[in-house]
Amino acid sequence: MLGLMQHQPLLISSLIEFAERHHGEGEIVSRRVEGDIHRYTYKELGLRSRKLAQALSAQGLAQGERVATLAWNGYRHLELYYGVSGSGCILHTLNPRLHPEQIAWIINHASDAVMCFDMSFLPIIKAIHTQCPTVKLYVALCDADKLPADSGIPNLVSYEAWMGGRTGVYTWPAFDENLASSMCYTSGTTGNPKAALYSHRSTVLHALAGSLPDALNMSARESVLPVVPMFHVNAWGLPYAAAMTGAKLVFPGPAMDGKSVYELIESEKVSFAAGVPTVWQMLLGHMQANTLRFSTLKRTVIGGSACPPAMITAFNDIYGVEVLHAWGMTEMSPLGTVCTLKNKHLAMSPEEKMKVRLKQGRGIFGVDMKIVNGMGDELPWDGNSAGDLLVKGHWILSEYFQGEGGGLLADGWFPTGDVATIDADGYMQITDRSKDVIKSGGEWISSIDIENIAMAHPAVAMAACIGMKHPKWDERPIVAVLKKPGMEVTREDLLAFYEGKTAKWQIPDDVVFVDAIPLGGTGKMQKSKLRAELADYVLPDLR
Ligand code: AMP
Repeated sequence: MLGLMQHQPLLISSLIEFAERHHGEGEIVSRRVEGDIHRYTYKELGLRSRKLAQALSAQGLAQGERVATLAWNGYRHLELYYGVSGSGCILHTLNPRLHPEQIAWIINHASDAVMCFDMSFLPIIKAIHTQCPTVKLYVALCDADKLPADSGIPNLVSYEAWMGGRTGVYTWPAFDENLASSMCYTSGTTGNPKAALYSHRSTVLHALAGSLPDALNMSARESVLPVVPMFHVNAWGLPYAAAMTGAKLVFPGPAMDGKSVYELIESEKVSFAAGVPTVWQMLLGHMQANTLRFSTLKRTVIGGSACPPAMITAFNDIYGVEVLHAWGMTEMSPLGTVCTLKNKHLAMSPEEKMKVRLKQGRGIFGVDMKIVNGMGDELPWDGNSAGDLLVKGHWILSEYFQGEGGGLLADGWFPTGDVATIDADGYMQITDRSKDVIKSGGEWISSIDIENIAMAHPAVAMAACIGMKHPKWDERPIVAVLKKPGMEVTREDLLAFYEGKTAKWQIPDDVVFVDAIPLGGTGKMQKSKLRAELADYVLPDLR
């Protein structure tokens, strides 16, 4: 017997309809590429998203056609999130930090029909437009009078002229919730990038689960600052979760330096912020240098790469801000785990609580996890056994766009490429990317552990641990270190700093000071590049 309840497809348009009706006055504040601060409401967001949908259908775009963006976090990008997906087209957020050649490759692979870009990225468009035959229309996200007259780009219009003249009288179409809504290419550290293709259903369910109190705890009382880019896995779903809960949204635009982010947090009374560790490093550096304090920030979610313990401590002890360590990936929409405490932890000492907080966290409803050994046998949840981490759930991809990568799922489980432990309470801790684990004398050394120790030294801004070939041990770890400006530490001091903090055989063989640690488009350390830069390096005992 079937239940007798109404069925409504879970569509992205339902989020903006809800926000417009129930949180019409809710604020959306953006620092613009133009430099000023723009503010409006969910009501205006709804209206302009419908105007955009009208412009898309006037363009003759059919359901499922791709509309690409090269844009910072801001209100126009948010309108594209709703207008494009809501109308049945697919929003394709491109990472502008990639090499232009790679961007052109991705545009062609996705067969993007329309390209919407912030004026900061005009040079990229100028460089690649001749290589992108599928793009029928270029839309510069600016007012008509800011459009360059002699760009040489055919079919170029200004966003405001293109959609501004529409009436906004438009009914969001109803369709199957399983249709694709947006797509995002993975960082592509090996081979060509591959795309995750999200559906309306997966996106809405992800926003629902991500808003729960033990996840990101979204509500109409929060002022939320997604510093994580909207081109990086839909800014971790925050633009959707905010509309679902009526939270105020604050967008940093292109200004992600410590000073600009701090000013925005204070002026917009931000209570919750989200970003990768490298962004918070800049913010904390600025605050330390200027002896600043937060007046409203209560929580920050940090993910994308391992959050160093020193950062969690600094936020917590000095600034009174709770850090939620979270883990996920492009293929997971991205939320997999968030580290929030259970009742049993509340009575623990601060040191014991910190041990829990350092982990990447518990699975949220909708995501299941397991760890397996090389034979595929499941390993126990004892907090010690480390194995390949597999996941499955409602917002985890079943295969890549255009079948890239072949049959992915082992018995319905997606292999994340991460190595992890899971403890008896279900808290998962990433020990490494499987390709970054250092294999020394038949044992594994977690590069993250080695980096975290170096990062706890007051003179270290960033540390990257990589394995170097060794004839006897197979590999030995070394750590590349970027010093904080004006601070000094010697190789010997830093090696001594490791004493007592990890097993002797795990202490790196050497410290190499570098002027920069290569970062990828989403702020992750690019160890492959670092390895290439250190190609001529020889370990001390082999010299
Ligand atoms: P991306 O798809 O670019 O978001 O990258 C996903 C990968 O980033 C994951 O598979 C992890 O290797 C890494 N990652 C994400 N969050 C964390 C975290 N909190 N700690 C350690 N690694 C992380």
